[in-house]
Amino acid sequence: MTKNSSLLSDAQSRMSDIFDRLDIGDDVRQQLQQPNHIHQAAIPVRMDDGQLRIFNGWRALYDQSRGPGKGGIRFHASVNEDEVATLSFWMMLKCAVVDLPLGGAKGGVQVDPKTLSRLELERLSRGYIRAFYDVIGPDRDIPAPDVNTNEIVMGWMANEYSEISRKQVRGIITGKPVGMGGSAGRTAATGQGALHVLDAWAKRENKEPKNMTVAVQGFGNAGYHFARLAKEAGYRIVAVSDSQAAIYTEQGLDPEPIWREKHKSRELKGMVYCESSVCTDNDIQQISHEELLGLDVDVLVLAALENAITEDNVDQVSAGTILEIANGPVTSAADEALSKRKITVLPDVLANAGGVIVSYLEWIQNRTGDYWSENYVNERLKEQIVGQAERCFGRAKEEDVNYRVAAYLQSIERIATAIASRGTQQYFNEDGS
Ligand code: NAD
Repeated sequence: MTKNSSLLSDAQSRMSDIFDRLDIGDDVRQQLQQPNHIHQAAIPVRMDDGQLRIFNGWRALYDQSRGPGKGGIRFHASVNEDEVATLSFWMMLKCAVVDLPLGGAKGGVQVDPKTLSRLELERLSRGYIRAFYDVIGPDRDIPAPDVNTNEIVMGWMANEYSEISRKQVRGIITGKPVGMGGSAGRTAATGQGALHVLDAWAKRENKEPKNMTVAVQGFGNAGYHFARLAKEAGYRIVAVSDSQAAIYTEQGLDPEPIWREKHKSRELKGMVYCESSVCTDNDIQQISHEELLGLDVDVLVLAALENAITEDNVDQVSAGTILEIANGPVTSAADEALSKRKITVLPDVLANAGGVIVSYLEWIQNRTGDYWSENYVNERLKEQIVGQAERCFGRAKEEDVNYRVAAYLQSIERIATAIASRGTQQYFNEDGS
């Protein structure tokens, strides 16, 4: 990504090669050049001190050829229209990579939620639904959690939608609390899915988890559950970071007490890592964010935000493999550099699809009224993500391409088939006799 290019144009720059490889016609190329629609709203919120503040919010639907839109809602100070559109583009690809009958969507609000009280956060969450009520819906576009939004926020949002509708509409949002129709297994699903992808790849490569070291950038919902489950599976988690700090220990750390400590102090810096007993007991040392990205580990997990690895720092990456749990954590230029250095990248559209798979399962449960056990949900998640990952790995081998290209081929082929089913230029030019 160059300094002036948009995130969306950088993301789309990977597409022309995919279209050419699949011999995709003009109709599909044109349809996938921009989102179907993007809505922007000014969301008014009455603050606790009586003042009125207006927050900018967006909802984008990139494509719905394969089904209703699906995608999270992000609360972050840097959210903007370009980012929301790009995230909806990646959601479209992701849903198709793992063969869900869903399109791609995304939403966001430009806000630092840490500056809001809980009541202000509730008013903003409900305000978001009032602003976008007309463009979302259980058969139209189904939101979910993303950065800085959690099951409680989803619960407020689902409740607001139902209040306006004057009826219970459980399938409007996924990632809800279990007591409000959420699915067992949803909170850990993204981390769990990423671990299944890593395990499937490691098995193919004859690598044993117990011999593999892992560093995790982004110790939030997705990164924490991944780290916790990966430790259980035998991987050695040597480093984790959040926006404020990074910690490292050669002998391997235990994510669970670190997570608890982080939540007790309500900020990672407080736990930081090294002021607490968690840290000293295990001989944990504080390192810089840059040092974490440059650690000589088997797997570097990127679970924070987009553009973590760019042209500027790609040369410092020493890991053998990158597991992308965040969306778009590697820019297209950095990706090329990694590919040249033969560093394996397990791409976001595959590696972080566990969340949307279990969101889809939640949506099915809401619509049928038949609720499943955590074991059953986890079995279905595993079957879906491992099956699609194996397809993708196989295609990469057959076509001698990297995993990102293979995942994009798998995805665009399915989306193009759906678009072409409605008729192509060639079809309409044919003599109908
Ligand atoms: P989250 O808000 O729970 O966690 C994000 C974490 O990243 C926070 O701990 C934050 O402090 C940390 N962070 C931010 N900037 C950082 C930096 N420069 N260095 C180190 N850490 C930094 O969000 P999440 O839900 O875990 O999502 C993380 C990523 O995974 C996002 O890109 C999101 O789009 C993607 N994702 C999440 C899900 C899901 O179900 N949660 C699903 C698919 C993809």
